[in-house]
Amino acid sequence: MTFVKKSPWIFHLNTGSCNGCDIEAVACVTPGFDIERLGAKLVGSPRHADIILVTGPVNKHSLERIKTVVEQAPKGKVIVGIGACTISGGLFKDSYNTDPPLGKHMPVTMYIPGCPPKPEAIIAGLAKALEALK
Ligand code: SF4
Repeated sequence: MTFVKKSPWIFHLNTGSCNGCDIEAVACVTPGFDIERLGAKLVGSPRHADIILVTGPVNKHSLERIKTVVEQAPKGKVIVGIGACTISGGLFKDSYNTDPPLGKHMPVTMYIPGCPPKPEAIIAGLAKALEALK
């Protein structure tokens, strides 16, 4: 598998997850999976990101901050939701302080299902997300 269009820079945003998805996402950049060999890398600012990788069920307390962070990414960005929480709220579905799905609050290009998804699934999803990058 190769990233053909460009080397995507990825910003990771946790919206209130249990950290399970975050651990799997971070595993993608460790030597075991090493997405940098495919040209992708994590960046520390949304202003530099082509892809916003979101985990968690959308916590109402942080919703406005989440939107502010996402709005800082350049035009043409792709938003990818990782895990069941971004799709339905997952384990936190009926919690008083969550407001899933992520797509209710921002234009999500694609979801990567699982609780949590494996790094292989996340990398495959990122490769698909590249097709949506303008
Ligand atoms: S989808 Fe599962 S692993 Fe991921 S944040 Fe939600 S509960 Fe945690």
